[in-house]
Amino acid sequence: EALAADEGASSIKVAVRVRPLSAREKAASIASVIRVIEGQTVVVLDPADGAIAYGPGANRTREKQYSFDHAFDDSTSQEEVFNLTTRDLVDYVLRGLNCTAFAYGPTGSGKTHTMTGTADEPGVMPRTLERLFERMRAQTANTFRVRISYIEVYNECVYDLLRPSGAAGGGGAAHGNGANAFGGLDLREDPVKGMFVAGVHEEEVTEPSAVLAQLERGNARRTTEATRANATSSRSHAVLQILIESREALANVQTSLELGKLSLIDLAGSERMGKTNNAGARLREGNKINQSLLALANCINALGDKAKRGQFVNYRDSKLTRLLKESLGGNSKTVMLCCLAPSADAFEETTSTLKYAHRAKNI
Ligand code: ADP
Ligand code: MG
Repeated sequence: EALAADEGASSIKVAVRVRPLSAREKAASIASVIRVIEGQTVVVLDPADGAIAYGPGANRTREKQYSFDHAFDDSTSQEEVFNLTTRDLVDYVLRGLNCTAFAYGPTGSGKTHTMTGTADEPGVMPRTLERLFERMRAQTANTFRVRISYIEVYNECVYDLLRPSGAAGGGGAAHGNGANAFGGLDLREDPVKGMFVAGVHEEEVTEPSAVLAQLERGNARRTTEATRANATSSRSHAVLQILIESREALANVQTSLELGKLSLIDLAGSERMGKTNNAGARLREGNKINQSLLALANCINALGDKAKRGQFVNYRDSKLTRLLKESLGGNSKTVMLCCLAPSADAFEETTSTLKYAHRAKNI
C-alpha cells in the first residue's frame, strides 16, 4: 500500500499561495511585496522601510522569510495546488479516515478561488470529487456511496447552503441579513456517524462534474455583509463535507461498513476587527467569527505539538471546531492552505497570516 511510507509523516501540511496582482492594483501601481523562492519560502518586504531607508543606521531591506511545506507563487495553477496539497487526502478517506483541508486568509486573498474556483479553473473542492471518483473506479473490490453536504457557519449558527430552509423554490438565503438569530441547524453526535448537522441535506453524488454548479449556487447564498474595510467581505465559514460509505463487494455476504469523511472549508476572512472600525452588530459578529478562527487555531496548535499530544483539546469552543471534532487530530490528516494578496497595502494582513501559518507548521 502506497500510503504506508507516509504513515509517520506529520498530520498537518501547511501551504501558502500568493494570488496575482489584480487589474485594479496594477492600474493603481500598487507594488507587490512578496517573493516566493524554491517552492517553499515566502519573502516579504516591509513597504514602510522605503520611507526610513535613508536615515543613518536604518535597516534598508528588512525582509522576513517564512518556510512551509509548499509556497505557491502567482503563476501556480489550480491543478498544481491541488496535486501538492489535497489530492493525497482522498486515499486516506477511502480507508475510512477523516481528513480536513481549509483555506485561511484575509478577504480578497484567494480563498474561494482556491477552494471553489471556476468552470475554467476548478479549485480544490471539485477536483477532490473528481479524484475521489477516479480512485473509487480503481478499487473494484469495494462498492461506494458518496454524499455531500454544504453548510455555512455564520455568527455561530449553521445554515444549509444546498437546501436553505424556507426557500423551497431555490434562490436566496433563508436567513436574510443575519436578523434571524434563531434559524440554523443543530450539531449532534451519533455513535456511528460521529458529529453531524441535524437535518442538513445530504446530496448523493453519482456524477462529480455536477458538483461545481451546486457549490456556486451555494456560494451565492453565503452571507456577505458590507463593512467599512471591504464592500463584500465574507463573514461566513463554508464547509463542504464529503461522506463516503465503503463496503466489500461480495455477493450475498454482509460486510462491514467503512465510513470516511472529508471536510473542505473556505473560512471567513481573517482580517482583524480592530481595523475595520466596526460597531454594534457587526462587532459582535466579528467577535464570533474570531471565536471560530481562534478555536480552530487553538485546536491545531494543541494537536500538532507532539509534547501536548493526548492533552485535552477544547473542540467545544466553537461551532466549527465541534463539527470538525473527529476530523482534526487523531488519525486524521489536515491541509492548511493560506492565501495571500501580494500588494503593499495588504502587508499587515499578510504578515499576520504568515505568522499564523508558520506557527501551525512549527508545532
Ligand atoms: P477570498 O475568497 O479570499 O475573499 P477570492 O477567491 O474571492 O478571495 O479572490 C479575490 C479575487 O482575486 C477574485 O476576483 C479572484 O478571482 C481573484 N483571484 C484569487 N486568486 C487568484 C489566482 N490564483 N489567480 C487568479 N485570480 C485569482
Ligand atoms: Mg471568498
